[in-house]
Amino acid sequence: MTVAARLVEVALPLPLLRTFTYAVPERTRHPLLPGSRVVAPVRGKRVIGICVGESDGAQLGGKEAKALLDVPDATPALPPDLLAVCRWISEYYVAPLGLVCRAVLPAALGSATKPDAPGKQERILVLSGELPTLLGRDEAFKRAPQQRQLYELLEQLGGRAAVTHLVEQLGCTPSVVTGLVKRGLVRIEQASRLRDPFADRSVARAALPTPTPAQREAIDRIVASPPGAVTLLHGITGSGKTLVYLEVLKEMVLQQGKSAIVLVPEIALTPQAVDRFRAVFGDQVAVLHSGLSDGERLDAWRALQRGERRIAVGARSAVFAPLENLGAIIVDEEHEASYKQAETPRYHAREVAIMRARETGARCVLGSATPALETWVNARDGRYGQISLPERVGGGALPPVRVVDLRQELRAAPAPQRALRSVLSVPLERALHDRLARGEQSILLLNRRGYASFVQCDEGHVATCPNCSISLTYHRTPERLVCHYCMHQASAESNCADCGLPFKRQRGLGTQQVERLLGDVLPTARIARMDVDTTSGKWAHTAILDRVASHEVDILLGTQMIAKGLDFPNVTLVGVIDADIGINLPDFRSSERTFQLLSQVAGRAGRGPKGGEVFIQTRAPSHHAVRCAMTHDYLGFVNEELPARDSPPYPPTLRLANVVVSGLDEAAVAAFATEVADWLTQAELRFGLGVTLLGPAPCPLERIKNRWRWHVLLKSERQAPLTRLLRGLLTGIEVPARHDLRLVADRDPVSLL
Ligand code: ADP
Ligand code: ZN
Repeated sequence: MTVAARLVEVALPLPLLRTFTYAVPERTRHPLLPGSRVVAPVRGKRVIGICVGESDGAQLGGKEAKALLDVPDATPALPPDLLAVCRWISEYYVAPLGLVCRAVLPAALGSATKPDAPGKQERILVLSGELPTLLGRDEAFKRAPQQRQLYELLEQLGGRAAVTHLVEQLGCTPSVVTGLVKRGLVRIEQASRLRDPFADRSVARAALPTPTPAQREAIDRIVASPPGAVTLLHGITGSGKTLVYLEVLKEMVLQQGKSAIVLVPEIALTPQAVDRFRAVFGDQVAVLHSGLSDGERLDAWRALQRGERRIAVGARSAVFAPLENLGAIIVDEEHEASYKQAETPRYHAREVAIMRARETGARCVLGSATPALETWVNARDGRYGQISLPERVGGGALPPVRVVDLRQELRAAPAPQRALRSVLSVPLERALHDRLARGEQSILLLNRRGYASFVQCDEGHVATCPNCSISLTYHRTPERLVCHYCMHQASAESNCADCGLPFKRQRGLGTQQVERLLGDVLPTARIARMDVDTTSGKWAHTAILDRVASHEVDILLGTQMIAKGLDFPNVTLVGVIDADIGINLPDFRSSERTFQLLSQVAGRAGRGPKGGEVFIQTRAPSHHAVRCAMTHDYLGFVNEELPARDSPPYPPTLRLANVVVSGLDEAAVAAFATEVADWLTQAELRFGLGVTLLGPAPCPLERIKNRWRWHVLLKSERQAPLTRLLRGLLTGIEVPARHDLRLVADRDPVSLL
């Protein structure tokens, strides 16, 4: 007589929206529970999966289940609340559960080979030559941009890092390392242990100031809110939100003995914020940042799981910290787009934080000076609690913001100066000269587009799509204006409907062009350029900000990324070169993004005793994003922006999903996008789900890294039909196996570019 084997469902890291049934061997190394890691045989390979529950074998269709090979851990890697969160992400974002689990666990737990044992010898790259000046650096790395990235990443990691880790972070070849070694700038050592760069940052224990009455009330209300509640903490910059977080954590962690998670948008850009938590909670804090090697990340994860550290601070993925008995989850700067993961699973860490708080009974705090409209509406309608801190601690004033009307500047400029004046107006140039003369520093923001251009008349009006109210994009061949949501087309030769003046093409300015112009006008200024497209991102970025802090730079010119590093007392001038560029991006959130950026700039500039000034150059001074940022008026902005999201409807009025098709061949991408749109149209007709389809159309960013991109937008008043349609599409349509075609569904997209 045979006893039927126990069957379980296993989530495997495969691009399929299903789980797999396996038989459990009679004897396993460790007990098998939901959330346990298992080693499963997949096409002759050993693959790590997660047991997600018992199985009735229905999926087997009469076939015999294969047996699991191993249960490697004594306790489940995913505790029950995290497994529930994984299930929710998989359902809502329509992502394979196995891929979700893999994204949630530290990378070292995702492979069937053993993670590096501590004490193992590694090749460590050590900084050995200094390049203190920016000019020296530019000169040294003129023909070796990859060496520069590596050098600056190493510098950022404290001057020591594992070779494998560096190569993996940059995606460069080992020859870049050899190049740097040959030049004597770095050397290779053998070592057995690595240092965590944050562990070495010394932080003095600090006593906290006494909360103001407004802060006290916020703290008390959050602590007294029911388990699982979400509270929006809407406080202007400088209103002391961080002290509120710290006091809430003191209560929850030190008094009540619970644990907590603090999410920050990007840790490399905000080391000071992290230091403030470490100054209060010391060794209780685990900082989860992208500089950690896989082994270090695993150590941090285990320390949290064992309860040795009870506060996790980190970016997006720290929301998955395996803490038991969670008391609070804090999402600082909750409006930031970086909380959305750009690859599968495309989750939003704020939404995951809310789900996890519900699951565990933790209090969830969403903090921002400029809350996302979705969040604001949820608070307005009573789904979230709301607390506002409308004043700066100590009553300090926000810096004056001057709007420079580029239309007037251009009218007043002599003809040969027009090109210069459209970049650098007379008032901004004068202000830069003043700062230089006084030995103070300036920051210039250029939110570049470069890839797509719009048309604007001299009065500042922009050609927009009549159906979608987003700006039309200029195309050269054939010359026309195109809506990248619905494919509406218009003549490029048209005149402005508001004032009758001809539309002119606005070319995106490059940071390099602006740098050259600045060099001509201010030949003695030490200018640093920060371009997210040319540096490998955050590490090089932090290195440049450090040089600004040590005053090796007079003018820092960069894209909106640098707005986050605006906390320098000697920076007394911030200029926004062209606010219109951000406003006119073909994305329904472009006004909101611009308002947030301008508010951030306006709120953070001139924090030091020398004060500061903000200049915003624009052809649209009466646009609500500019006007309301100038007067620091969030509610004013919301009151103008929300009605604009009603017709045509966009979030938060309804729900959105973006289905993106990409591939190496333009025609094949367009054809498959059309097939996808047809499939969706048919499904909608058949089931009457109430989902509106827009497109197919090329994405505003038509081509990224050699891949052509088209998209279809799905709008729905309710969530369930979107889930159903997306799931149906991803399981029902076959992606042709040619030209590397891919199909991706992005639920609640934060960017439609
Ligand atoms: P926010 O994050 O809201 O922009 P911060 O938390 O950075 O503001 O606080 C702004 C400044 O005010 C910081 O330098 C902080 O140390 C200080 N601060 C906050 N609360 C108090 C308080 N109750 N008493 C004195 N200083 C405070
Ligand atoms: Zn349109």
